[in-house]
Formats: sequence, C-alpha cells, structure tokens
Amino acid sequence: MPEPIIPKSDLSQLATLGWNSEIAAGYEPYQSEFQVGRVVVVHRNLCRILSIHGELDAVISRKLQTDLTDTTGKTQYHLSEISRFPVVGDWALFRYSQKDGKALVHGVLPRRTKISRNDPGRKTDEQVIAANIDMAFLIMALNYDYNLRRIERYLAILWNSDVDPVIVLNKADLVKNSAALLRKVRQVVSGTPVLLTSALKNTGLEELNKLLAPGKTCIFLGSSGVGKTTLINTIIGEERYAVQEISDYRDRGKHTTSAREMIFTESGGIIIDTPGLRRIDLWHDQAGFEDVFADIIELSGSCKFRNCTHTSEPECAVLAAVENGRLSPKRIANYRKLQMELATAGRKLKYRRDRRARISQQKQDRSHDRNEHHDRDQ
Ligand code: GDP
Ligand code: ZN
Repeated sequence: MPEPIIPKSDLSQLATLGWNSEIAAGYEPYQSEFQVGRVVVVHRNLCRILSIHGELDAVISRKLQTDLTDTTGKTQYHLSEISRFPVVGDWALFRYSQKDGKALVHGVLPRRTKISRNDPGRKTDEQVIAANIDMAFLIMALNYDYNLRRIERYLAILWNSDVDPVIVLNKADLVKNSAALLRKVRQVVSGTPVLLTSALKNTGLEELNKLLAPGKTCIFLGSSGVGKTTLINTIIGEERYAVQEISDYRDRGKHTTSAREMIFTESGGIIIDTPGLRRIDLWHDQAGFEDVFADIIELSGSCKFRNCTHTSEPECAVLAAVENGRLSPKRIANYRKLQMELATAGRKLKYRRDRRARISQQKQDRSHDRNEHHDRDQ
C-alpha cells in the first residue's frame, strides 16, 4: 500500500480544527494521494485552508468549478464522491508543492452535516453554504424578535440535518418576564436546550461556553440586531477584527491576516461566522418538518379521511384538538404555511429535474438519429 502523504502523528495536529476519527476514516482512501485541511473561507475559485502547513491560499480545480454548472443539460453533479465545490467548514483534499507554496484543491471529504438554503439565483436547487457543523445556536432577541413560529421553522430544518440546535434567548435584560418566556419556549421545543442570556450584561454565557466543546464546530443564526456579534465578542473576550476586504485576498504578495470567518474559542470550540450564513434562508425539507409537527401528524392518524387537509373535513382529529384547546390555532396555521412552502419547493425541484432529464433525452435522441442517418448513407 502506498505511504500516506501526511504522517499519522501530524494528522493529530488537526484536532483543534475539528478533525476526529470519523473524518479520519473518510480520509483514508485518499491519504496517499491528497493532503487534507479545513476550509475557512471561499471566494470564487480560491479558498483558504488551514492544514499542517499552516494557512494556505489554494486554487479550486477547474473540474470542481464546472461540476456546478449543467448548461449542457447533462447531469455533471458528483463526478465522483469527492468532486464537490468546497464551502466553509469542508475538509478539502488538495495537492501542495512545498517548493512554490502552491496548493490546488481536488475535492472535499464526504460531509458529515451541511447547512443549505434555497439558491437565490436558481430558486429550486439546494445550495450548501457550510459543512461539518455540529451545533447551531439560534439567537432571538427577547424584546422584539421573540417568535415561537420562527423557532419551529428553524428547528424543522436543523433536526433533519444532524446539526444540534440550541436556542438562545438574548437581551434578557430588556424584558421583565424572561423566566416566563423561557418556560414557554421550552414547552414548544421538547428537549432542545434553551438558554437565557444577556450579551450586554454578560449573564447566562457560562452555559453557552460549556456547549462550545473542543473540536466542535458551531454557527450562530438569527436576524440582524439580535446580538450575534456581541455574543461572539463576549465569548472570545475581544472585539473581532473587521472582516478583511476580500479583494486583497487575491493579492498573494501581500501579507494577509488570518480569516475571521472561523473563530477558535478558548474552550476549544470553533465558530463559523460568515456573511452568507447571516442571511440564511434555510432549505426546507419534509423529514425535519415531520419531527417538529409530530403531534399534528400523530393526530392526523385519527382523522376520518386519510388525505385530510385539516381545513374543513368532518371528523378531523386536528380540528377537534384545536376546538378543545389542546392544539394552538397558531401552531396549526404555521403547520399549513410550512407545508405549503414545502410543496411549492418540491414542485419546483421536480420541474427542474424533469426538465434536465428531458433535455438530456432529446440530446440522446438527436445523436441517435444522426447515427442512423450515417448508417443509411453508407
Ligand atoms: P447582530 O446583528 O446579531 O450581530 O447584533 P449585534 O451584536 O450587532 O447587536 C445589535 C445591538 O444590540 C447592539 O447595539 C448591541 O449592543 C445590542 N445588544 C446585543 N446583545 C444585547 C443584550 O443582551 N442586551 C441588550 N440590552 N442589548 C444587546
Ligand atoms: Zn384532519
């Protein structure tokens, strides 16, 4: 068997970046061919990688770039298991020349988890924006941003992605009834940790810190102004540098400071905080939805009609539960709204897939026709 490129003893250095035995197992098939490192930021065809060689600016191979486009109508996705365009948090497989310091990314290791959203340019296809995230802190501001329905919505998405959610109710100092609000949220989210914090007064942060375990990667989600930056600053005990202008990043001659998109906390936790994640419009999917609305789905088993929509049908168990106060009307309204969004997203996705298949079929037919003509002409 060929020698691994990185000696085992050196691989252990990657632990601070989130490396673990599961990722190591994923790397084994590639260890004699590629180096491995964690992607901290991606910009166009460049990405910055932290590896045993320190910080590297790497070029993303052309093959991975074309992998994203399917203008030919052919499905070029996933030419091989590793050929995916890197995103922040990925473990990149790259070749590195120590002589000239050049690195070229050839792929990424299989993702343990991923955070996706609807691609605003394409509307229907899933766009992965961060990979290998262990935990997501959902930050809400108790004074104005507190919204049980939105919590349900975020949870629906995260539960299916293997990313552990933690709800953080921030700005506790601004409301009088924070304890009551905390209880209310806990009722809705069965089992998900809920923390009460004030980033300004520095309260409740010990609990948050405890969750930032060594080698665990997390993200902070939430609307603008809820206190994400303040929380992160308080956790790391310093003001973060302004995110570096990405344009200098191309200028390899200049000294570039360490990317601030990936922050290493004193407790060993890793925080990914990118502008892309901040404007997240998460990708919905069916399975997570069913987890969040397990109570409603269970109730629908007792509806008279199998395909009951719980709107006006007779002997509907869901409507009955609303009637007798066991189910909140808001919750069922949110269920309907999310269900409708899911259906629309599903239809759009199907349309694109069908269209792609049709175009590729037409191409095949055309080339088949051409071959037939050719045969006849001979
Ligand atoms: P971000 O957009 O989510 O990153 O929010 P910021 O961290 O920039 O915070 C927005 C504003 O809320 C700033 O003026 C903060 O000082 C303030 N803020 C953040 N956390 C708290 C808190 O716990 N209590 C109070 N009263 N204000 C806070
Ligand atoms: Zn029903």
